Amino acid sequence: MNLLGIDIGGTKMALSIGNERGEIMADQRFPTDCGNPQATLSRAVEVANELIVKAGLTVEQIDAIGISSPGPMCSRRRMILETPNLKGWANFKIGDFFEEKLKRPVFMQNDANGAGMAEYLFGGCKGLDLVYVTMSTGIGGGIVANGKIVSGINDLGGEVGHITLDINGPLCGCGKTGCWEAYCGGKTMADHIRAEIVANKIPTAILDLVGGDPARISMKEICAAVRAGDAYACGKWDVFIEKMAQAVGILLQTLNPQAIVMGTIAIYDGDLFLPQMMERLPRYAWQSSIDVCRIEPSVLKNIGELSAIAIAIDGTRQLKKG
Ligand SMILES: [Zn+2]
Repeated sequence: MNLLGIDIGGTKMALSIGNERGEIMADQRFPTDCGNPQATLSRAVEVANELIVKAGLTVEQIDAIGISSPGPMCSRRRMILETPNLKGWANFKIGDFFEEKLKRPVFMQNDANGAGMAEYLFGGCKGLDLVYVTMSTGIGGGIVANGKIVSGINDLGGEVGHITLDINGPLCGCGKTGCWEAYCGGKTMADHIRAEIVANKIPTAILDLVGGDPARISMKEICAAVRAGDAYACGKWDVFIEKMAQAVGILLQTLNPQAIVMGTIAIYDGDLFLPQMMERLPRYAWQSSIDVCRIEPSVLKNIGELSAIAIAIDGTRQLKKG
């Protein structure tokens, strides 16, 4: 199979030509115009045609197009519903646009669900019932069970980052309080720490690492301060680990999966929390469920591109099954 993958991001579009083994034959990125889907997608069609030629193919030889999109989105109508980073894109019929221009079947899913499918098809836990957990600015999830994405009735399946861990917890970007993301999402965690440091004039290595400028605090500096043994950062990190254990415990207890694969923060700083989280996990999930689940960082280097390719493969398979 030859597949065209389109990964829509808030800052960049990533297009690629790949196959069912996850091999990428050609790829290209360009900036997203957040207010103008028409211009961005027209450019995407040009880039797609260039990549198809570069891969030695014709448009007719592309079996399917997969679009990986930020949520909330609608996979059936193939459009983004509302998203803070792509304001002008709401309700623009992205799937129809590509189908009309390229005349190939188009499948669209949210990016975390696509990443789950990419892990299932190409990752270190290939072929297992798994949950993929994105751990970057926010916390997203993709659940693959029996080889299928669990997207739910209106594409909200796998939104594990917004599981409430404590109703009295910190405010989340989604408007609820105490979500997993509010505790462990890179952006929310940095925001809360920044506000606390400024309000209470807390002396901490985190501030030294950003040259005294609180605006520059991110998860990177928080992790570096934890590594340096900074007391304030380590206190915050302890809560992070506890909430990770609680949330992963819920996933284990709910789904009894064969694997939980984690992205970004787990890839770069997994040693700072995965062993401690595993120690605390028996307080939140049955040992019999923990014992059968592989919990590990993702080994996929280009998960965005592979997600879009995986969405194309998944869509084609579901279509064949009818
Ligand atoms: Zn939330």
